Amino acid sequence: MATTSHFESMLREVSLRVTRPRVAVLTAVHEHPHADTDSIIGVVRADLGEVSHQAVYDVLRALTTAGLVRRLQPEGSVARYEARVGDNHHHVVCRSCGAIADVDCAVGYAACLTPSNDTGYEIDEAEVIFSGRCPDCVAATPAASGG
Ligand SMILES: [Zn+2]
Ligand SMILES: [Zn+2]
Repeated sequence: MATTSHFESMLREVSLRVTRPRVAVLTAVHEHPHADTDSIIGVVRADLGEVSHQAVYDVLRALTTAGLVRRLQPEGSVARYEARVGDNHHHVVCRSCGAIADVDCAVGYAACLTPSNDTGYEIDEAEVIFSGRCPDCVAATPAASGG
């Protein structure tokens, strides 16, 4: 479990001033992977008391720009944030309940970095969002036959 001073040094490493909202947001994102902004605001308020939406948005933007937090936006979903950065992992989203899970890249492969046509772009990153049903939803509803 990462400590507050660990988060403070993470902020310093990317030259961000250490403030209580920044530490609180960073902590919330670490403890609640793939949380949306509203959930993060709830966690931060439980920790710090009254903090404006705008303040949390601003902190999330600063942390994302600094590379401490990764923002993802599955189709049909609000933006989510996570602290697992730097490994370019992918995500699977449940169409029924919106649950999100991490999907690791195949070991030894830079996933999907060789598109059939790069149209001249220099490509260094790919993100895949898989869609389907999570185990809970599969267990709750028998698979629809056919489709
Ligand atoms: Zn589900
Ligand atoms: Zn993730």
